[in-house]
Amino acid sequence: MDQIKIDNLEVYAYHGVFPEETKEGQIFQIDAVLYTDLRPAGETDELTLSTHYGEVCQFINRFLREKTYLLIEAAAEHLTQELLLAFPRIEKLELELKKPHAPIGLPFENVSVKIERGWKRAYLGIGSNLGERQKLIDQAVMKLKENKMIKDVKCSKIISTEPYGDTALYEFLNGAIELKTLLVPDKLLEFLHQIEAEAGRERKIHWGPRTLDLDILFYEDFISNDPVLTIPHPDMENRLFVLEPLDELCPWYFNPVTGKNVRQMLRELKESKASVHAEGDGKA
Ligand code: AMP
Repeated sequence: MDQIKIDNLEVYAYHGVFPEETKEGQIFQIDAVLYTDLRPAGETDELTLSTHYGEVCQFINRFLREKTYLLIEAAAEHLTQELLLAFPRIEKLELELKKPHAPIGLPFENVSVKIERGWKRAYLGIGSNLGERQKLIDQAVMKLKENKMIKDVKCSKIISTEPYGDTALYEFLNGAIELKTLLVPDKLLEFLHQIEAEAGRERKIHWGPRTLDLDILFYEDFISNDPVLTIPHPDMENRLFVLEPLDELCPWYFNPVTGKNVRQMLRELKESKASVHAEGDGKA
């Protein structure tokens, strides 16, 4: 992706573990690489279609002068987050925060931390088969949209499906959601659990009736085998009610574990269901 680069911006600020650092202050230097699409501004010569690097520098200066952190790790972490929130055209940000006069007591040129943060695309499954199902889904989508760490929320059509598992009594409403987020996967899951709890979800019976169920289906091409959070969602390819809405949002997105895209998973699942049906008919 295209880049805007800022090299060695100097800021006088007050971060450090030692009291004299927070009292007297010192010079900090910042290198930043802003990953963003420069073509719209390049083609039109229009500043509003780019990210104003002067404003970015002023923002960094203000942020670092006004706040005080013990660690440059914390200063860099919070600064990158605020930059990504304040400048929506930046997709990803590389930031190096240098402290050339750190009180080390030995000759050295520089010490720094360097981090890379950015918006990540994720896909969720959403379902409800208890209570005011459509309203619960709408409220959940609204809560996702209201979280400043989440943006570009898109919801598929909501479909009505037969209950899954023995204990579910009512028809499910199901859909899929696309979003971009600054939350790491386990923080995203934590937020989804919070939305489920606010919808009155009680985790009593596995596959039982539930007011709201939110699952992470994909998180970029991230892979996790942890039972607390398995990504891509392991049951995805066995569930029509997941794949059908997902196919509307991202037919060509592929499962990094199996290499199969959503359209292919959907086709294979439909074919296997049809052949099971045909076998059943043959026996009858
Ligand atoms: P559920 O009954 O579908 O809400 O899932 C129960 C548990 O599955 C949750 O408490 C999660 O810790 C765990 N889990 C594992 N992988 C995922 C995932 N990709 N999305 C949501 N929950 C997950």
